[in-house]
Amino acid sequence: MRFYFLYVQPWQFLMRRNSRKTTFGIEDPNDLSKAAIDFQRDQSTCNHLCVGDTGRHERYLSDYYIFEKEPEATSAALWGRGFPAIIDLRAYDSADHYQQLLKRQSKGATLRQIKKAKSGSYTCRRFNFEDYPNEILAIKQSKNFRSGGPVMAAFFKKKPSPKGQNLIPQEVPDPSCPNHWYQYWGVFLVKGESKKNNTLVGYIKLNRVGNIVHIPGIMGHADHLRTGALKYLFLETVTWLIESEEPAVQGTQYLQYGSIEHASKGLAQWKKNFLFEPHVFKSHT
Ligand SMILES: [Zn+2]
Repeated sequence: MRFYFLYVQPWQFLMRRNSRKTTFGIEDPNDLSKAAIDFQRDQSTCNHLCVGDTGRHERYLSDYYIFEKEPEATSAALWGRGFPAIIDLRAYDSADHYQQLLKRQSKGATLRQIKKAKSGSYTCRRFNFEDYPNEILAIKQSKNFRSGGPVMAAFFKKKPSPKGQNLIPQEVPDPSCPNHWYQYWGVFLVKGESKKNNTLVGYIKLNRVGNIVHIPGIMGHADHLRTGALKYLFLETVTWLIESEEPAVQGTQYLQYGSIEHASKGLAQWKKNFLFEPHVFKSHT
């Protein structure tokens, strides 16, 4: 993976930069919104996991251009670094406000798909990753290639584990530190009344590090990619981030999903439809 990040990704970013600038309507990168990241270190609720997580995130952010460190950066200095794709959650007074702008963005198409998925057979909620090993395996194996490239689990077919079949999903516990956590949101296909019969068909992994929530991945089963299920899931997740009064959400400001240069054109358009905007990181503390 290190080889990929050092040598392959920078070229990909460079090759894609101009077309992505057009997709997102960037004229002068200096005019981009600046995101000030606060890792919210050393809170009274922090433990040793928080320290590891903020350290990892600091390294991750070093792949991006930090405005205050190099305000005069030349293109050579920007080599290999992307523009982070970010939703500024505080720009929305409510989830309704976000939905109104979402509607405007794609002439209502995204919201119509979401409504269909919502009134149909899907439901969204948080889940424990370890409660659904076989469904997660089935999701990963359902498609050999994704927008980010080949999926190893799909090529080297592992068999579902017999143990995984009888797991009873447990309540999702509150994170041990509200400022630093990983959580999973899932979209389930509803079959009958009992929650037990619902099948996980897609999920979003979220990682909060201070005022930024990062999305390490969104995965859907190939059979459910055109049904609006993942869009519905995404809207539910953003709604939670904008409106929830849970401590785990207090003090969050930015939702980041990679950069505008990452992965396929289709994914870049998807980000644009959901109102992700290219930013530069102003600083981080
Ligand atoms: Zn913490």
